[in-house]
Parts: sequence; structure tokens; C-alpha cells
Amino acid sequence: MGTLIKNGTVVSAESSAKLDVLIEGETIAAVGQGLNEAGHTVVDATGLLVIPGGIDVHTHLDMPFGGTTSADDYTTGTQAAAVGGTTTVIDFALQNQSSTLKEALEIWLKKSDGKACVDFSLHMAVTNLHGTNGEETLNEMEEMTKAGISSFKLFMAYPNVLMINDELMFRVMEKAASLNALCCIHAENGSAIDVVVARMAAEGKTEPHWHALSRDPKAEAEATHRAIALADMTGAAVYIVHLSNEYALDALEHMQARGARALAETCTQYLVLSLEEQMPGKSWEEAKFVFTPPLREKRHQEPLWKALADGSITVVSTDHCPFTMEQKALGRDDFRKIPNGGPGVENRMQILWHFGVNAGRITPEQFVALSSTNPAKIFGMGGQKGRIAAGLDADVVLWDPNKEYTLQAATQRMGNDYNLFEGWTVKGNAAKVFSRGELVVDNETQPGAFLGATGRGRFVKRECNAGGFA
Ligand SMILES: [Zn+2]
Repeated sequence: MGTLIKNGTVVSAESSAKLDVLIEGETIAAVGQGLNEAGHTVVDATGLLVIPGGIDVHTHLDMPFGGTTSADDYTTGTQAAAVGGTTTVIDFALQNQSSTLKEALEIWLKKSDGKACVDFSLHMAVTNLHGTNGEETLNEMEEMTKAGISSFKLFMAYPNVLMINDELMFRVMEKAASLNALCCIHAENGSAIDVVVARMAAEGKTEPHWHALSRDPKAEAEATHRAIALADMTGAAVYIVHLSNEYALDALEHMQARGARALAETCTQYLVLSLEEQMPGKSWEEAKFVFTPPLREKRHQEPLWKALADGSITVVSTDHCPFTMEQKALGRDDFRKIPNGGPGVENRMQILWHFGVNAGRITPEQFVALSSTNPAKIFGMGGQKGRIAAGLDADVVLWDPNKEYTLQAATQRMGNDYNLFEGWTVKGNAAKVFSRGELVVDNETQPGAFLGATGRGRFVKRECNAGGFA
């Protein structure tokens, strides 16, 4: 007794075909033509695409930042993901500089315990090394990989809080190379940026607009090149998170062309929002768009789209880290105190489909690759998720390419009180969402509702595969 999805078009990263999909229990049991209906519940997917559930590899749920905590916990955040067609997220556990990786992992597993509603995994952010030559922490990295954490995050920004120096980065990369783990890099030159930030503050330039101007695209490009060059020296595979502009893209492609094992993601906000349009410097409301890297000039958007089509950038994520306007008001008089981050996990698939596929910039197959198949493969869970294939988890989305949908805070499931794309109408949305075989969202009959039990999401252990290069 299973669920048989009939009459839909199954889209993979390579091709599309009219195929039936049989779900039995938590698993995809069969994919093929004319599968026997006998004994199964039939779901008619006429006019719909059958795609693997989205995977957002960059979220910050229940994350402390600047004296407050992001406005989605594991329950609301993963439900918002599901409503938008995303069935797996990879969140970040953050090492406190004075603590161990093990302590950080315990804290984040506790945050998610009994709360996650779809499957999730964790990257581990390394912010300090303990012991002689960092040995204690470096040895802990190996323990982390045994616990299923195959990617380590390093911040080249936020001095004194999260930023690591080049020595520490190099040591972590050497260790990651020996473990076949992936290094994820927040690439911005935090030291240079802080000089600019301090000068702006001294000159009374305190509105949100200045936050964006204080973080030059070239500070990102410089750090992108440095991270990839150092990783290449150690033999580590490296993944640049939230790449936002053409200069950084140049740095990435330059090193890729020379054989570096370098990957990158960009985020929906950098593809469709801009400094000119969202942050012209006219109001406090622009605090909505204070995140790092900041919004860039509009001219950076098309190169990013082109990189998605060409394959130099292989993942689209969100850096989902929502705050309410009340939380943002911590920096009402000083942009340095505005909590950094914006909402996005619920709208990633819609934005990528509408402005990517509908606009002719990417194909439906590339949409599947960028939103699910590549993230699964790069982050070491391609044997479990990211494709519609027998034996994999039945994370399946029935995608309606013709459904019009208006993005707005009033109806969103995300926990904050604004939407980055407020009032935009897009075409293309998740109709039904299955997470490990369970129908958890049915936007056709109960729009925006999460139908599964709270806490049903499971931690996904990931393999060390050097970002798919190994
Ligand atoms: Zn982030």
C-alpha cells in the first residue's frame, strides 16, 4: 500500500519525462511508465512537475546575533521551508570562541530536538582553535565528521566575534583536506571593512544604507580569492557561501579555471534585489535589507544568473536569518547594531523558478540541479536525497508551474513580520510536498498549512566527499 503519483512530468538535473512515481513508506520505491495502481493511493499530477524536495544548505534558525535571536526556531523555520517546497535544510552550529565543537553541536542538537519538522543537517562553524597548534580542536573536527558533519564554516568577517585569521584558516583547511571534508567560507575582508565602518560611524553615517556601502564588493572578491588560494595549497575543497557580486565571481572563475576545487552558492536576494532599488538611502525601512554581504548594484545580477546557467555557481540558497522590525530597531540609530539577516527559506523555489525558468535564464532541469540535486551531492547526502530515484528518501514536490502566488508577510509562515519580496506576484509554486513519504503540505487544499507533526524532522548524517570532487 503506497502512494502512486501519476501523469506528472518527472524533472531531474539532466532531463524531463512523463513517469509515474511510487512511494512506499518513507522511500521512493519505483519510477517508471505505467506503474500498476492496484492497492495504492493514486495522486493525479496532471499538469504538474514532479521534482525532488528542495534543499536549502544555508539557514540560521534560532541563531543568536547581536544580543537577539533569529525570529524562526526549528519549528517555524522548517515549516516555512516545507510550505515553499524545501524538505531539507542545513543549518549552522557555531562554536563559541572559548568553547569546543562538541559543545556547539550539543547546543544546536538541543535547539532542533523535538522541533524540526523536515529533515535537517548542520555545518560546524570553527571560530577558534584550542591546544598546541590547535590540535584539540582539529582532532574534534574528525569527531564531527564521524557524527555526520562533513562541512566546516569559516568566517573571514566579523572581527573579534567570528572572524578567523589566515593561520587558523590554513590549519583547518589542512585538516579538512585530510578528512575529505568541505570548507565553507564567508568571504569578506573583515579587517578592511571594519576600518570603513568605524570611519562612517565617526562621520555620523549611521542609516541602514551605509551598512551596504561599508562592505565593498572588492572586499568580498579579495577574500574569495584568498580562501580559494589557501584551500588549493592544502588540497581542500572549498565552497564560497553567499557569493554576491561580479568581482567575487571573477575570483572564483579564475581559480576554477586553474583547477582549484572551488564551488560557490549565491542566494535569491542577490539575484533579484539591488542597492539602487531596495536601499537608495531614503528610509529606516531599508533595515529590512541589512544582511551580509549586502545588496549590490543591479549590474551584478546578470553575471550571477549567467554563472548559474554556465555552472560556475552550482547552488542557490537563502542565508535565511529573519529578524522582526522590532529586533532590527536595536540599530535604529546605528547600523552597526542592526541584527544582520533576512527571511527567505519559504520563497527560494518560487523566486528561482519565476526569475530563472520563466524568464528563460535557466532550464527546469537546471532549477532542479541548483535547488536540490547539486546541494545533496556537494554536501554528502546524494545517496539519500536530491533526486527522484528508487531507494532515495521520498522527499517529493509536485510543482505547479502555472500557479500564481503573491509573496507577502501577511500570509507567510516565516516568523518575522516582513517579506523581502513584499507584494511581488510570481508564477510557479509547490502544490503538494512529501517529506519522507508523508504529505506535509497541500497548498491546493490547505494553502500555507503544515500538516505533519512537530518534531518529525530528522538529523541527516552526511558523508565526507570533498564537495563531490572526491
Ligand atoms: Zn549565513
